[in-house]
Amino acid sequence: MKEGYRRVLLKLSGEALMGDLSFGIDPDVMDRIAGEVQELSQLGKEIGIVIGGGNFFRGLSGIQQGIDRASADYMGMLSTVLNSLALQSSLERKGVSTRVLSAIEMRALAEPYIRRRAVRHLEKGRVVIFAAGTGNPYFTTDTAAALRAMEIGAEVVLKATKVDGIYSDDPKKNKNATRYVQLTYGEVLEKRLKVMDATAVSLCMDNNLPIIVFDLTEDRNIVRVVQGEELGTLVR
Ligand code: UDP
Repeated sequence: MKEGYRRVLLKLSGEALMGDLSFGIDPDVMDRIAGEVQELSQLGKEIGIVIGGGNFFRGLSGIQQGIDRASADYMGMLSTVLNSLALQSSLERKGVSTRVLSAIEMRALAEPYIRRRAVRHLEKGRVVIFAAGTGNPYFTTDTAAALRAMEIGAEVVLKATKVDGIYSDDPKKNKNATRYVQLTYGEVLEKRLKVMDATAVSLCMDNNLPIIVFDLTEDRNIVRVVQGEELGTLVR
């Protein structure tokens, strides 16, 4: 059995927090995620988390409403802050020491993002939640996850989704779609597999940072993947 990873960057999509709801946060899903992070933290794992905002607001939907791209993206970034504070609260209820670091300064509710401070928090055993994406419009939280993973020296980006890995086609639409166990970055980009946006994948490729795409809806999968069990699809 592999000993697993020591320092990881966990990417949770906003949608994953919705559970079966059509909007917002399902408290049971949040509680389960927090419970798994708590277990890992108690095992001494160092965990950075980037959360998306798609359960509240996406830049693209704002554009459709006539909002300009940059403003819509800032609205999207703010929605990641909502999720970050909710996760912090769930973790703290379980006694897990947590800090939210925001890429957009909001000192009343989160620390500003400072790389060295993030690393220090991790060394002290605090779970670090990175809010507000990269702080820049025209990016996604997947890219924020890749960027923060590199900045904190994480060994891997763990992308938690609603499917159990990367498929040759959409498994919900195509019954013959097969799951890849392992792929290269080049294959993901070339085949245009919809797993992470190309910016995030290229950033990981240029810096040799492995990505694991795995199913969040399965109980205990976060714990299992951090402990080194081979789940989902490995991209490297
Ligand atoms: N966003 C952005 N810059 C970033 C990260 C996010 O502009 O660095 C905006 C973008 O509009 C995006 C929204 O925030 O649609 C929510 O993030 P994302 O769609 O990545 O969330 P997820 O799909 O993971 O829930």
